[in-house]
Amino acid sequence: MMLYIHVPFCASHCSYCAFYSTTSTEALEQYSTTLLREIEYTSLLHGSIDTPIRSIFFGGGTPSFISAEYIAHVLTQIARTYPFSHDIEITIEANPESITQEKAEIWYNAGINRVSIGCQSFIPETLTLLQRIHSVERIYEAIDILRHVGFRNLSLDMIWGHCNQTTEQWLYELRSALSLGVEHLSCYLLTIEENTLLAKQYKLHTLLPSEEELCEMYLAGKELLTRHGYIQYEISNFAQEGYECKHNLGYWNDIPYYGYGPSASSYTIASRYTHPSSIQAWSTRISECCNKHVPLPNREERTKEIIYTELLFLGLRQSKGISLNTLNSYLPIPFEEYYKKQIEQLCMNSLITYDSSSIRVTSKGGLVLDSIIEQFLTMPQ
Ligand code: SF4
Repeated sequence: MMLYIHVPFCASHCSYCAFYSTTSTEALEQYSTTLLREIEYTSLLHGSIDTPIRSIFFGGGTPSFISAEYIAHVLTQIARTYPFSHDIEITIEANPESITQEKAEIWYNAGINRVSIGCQSFIPETLTLLQRIHSVERIYEAIDILRHVGFRNLSLDMIWGHCNQTTEQWLYELRSALSLGVEHLSCYLLTIEENTLLAKQYKLHTLLPSEEELCEMYLAGKELLTRHGYIQYEISNFAQEGYECKHNLGYWNDIPYYGYGPSASSYTIASRYTHPSSIQAWSTRISECCNKHVPLPNREERTKEIIYTELLFLGLRQSKGISLNTLNSYLPIPFEEYYKKQIEQLCMNSLITYDSSSIRVTSKGGLVLDSIIEQFLTMPQ
């Protein structure tokens, strides 16, 4: 079992971001009270759990933006409620501008053992384009603070594939990240999400790199990171050995989780539900459920079709690939029989590799992952 806590507050809004967050702190108190209430109430609803919690993730929004004492208090409340595994991973997402010595010490003493830093770029003009409010220097200072306090598991989020970016620039970004010696790197290809500031600026999309350029950047970046000892364990994620993010691996490997806070999703073997993307609406929902002593609404039953599709999407993103045994346990005909032609064709084009136990996407295939998945989407009946 894993826990996700959504902290929906940010100091400002970045131009590319489509996550639910607000720059107003008006509802901070309401959020803080409701979150603690939700944790307490859902533990009563779910009862005791069979397996200890393996990971907790404070995501956002910008969890580092709010009080570190409050984060520590939430952790204490969770620890009173659920057993923790002895090697639990507890991550907080943090932005460089809000990482201070004082906050870092409180997080560390509260048991947080991994910090995922929203760095995005080491080029001032790119930080401006993305409307990040920290400087390049602040990234270095933040890492120094975290190391000094004692954190031994740091991750950097980077964005690539933006306006006018060249392979040389992308490699410069990655070399800068490598110089910090972080244990983990997440490299996300910029996607222009609807209703973001970037979507308005990029109506014509003329300045974005072409597919060939993106392909070159992806392969060059991957080669550089691999040469420096980072293992690509998922399409966007690289880690030094033993530092793969347990929480993300859990999502990709079908581990159930409870999500707390507005817009957070929960998932158990039988069902899934997502909270509204509004502090007010989420808060009303939690109050009603607590007052009436009823389960949280909007449960979506997980049919075999839904599970099959999720397995494909999540499994093929990972470098270990997807286990045929797992897929076949949801199918009336073995996957490899039903999709024989497609598998042969994709293997011939070096987009996947296939053996009797699993299917993996190759480096070349990683660039066209969506179209590979599309070929397997019809579930055999
Ligand atoms: S990218 Fe992060 S910091 Fe920027 S608006 Fe989105 S959640 Fe907030």
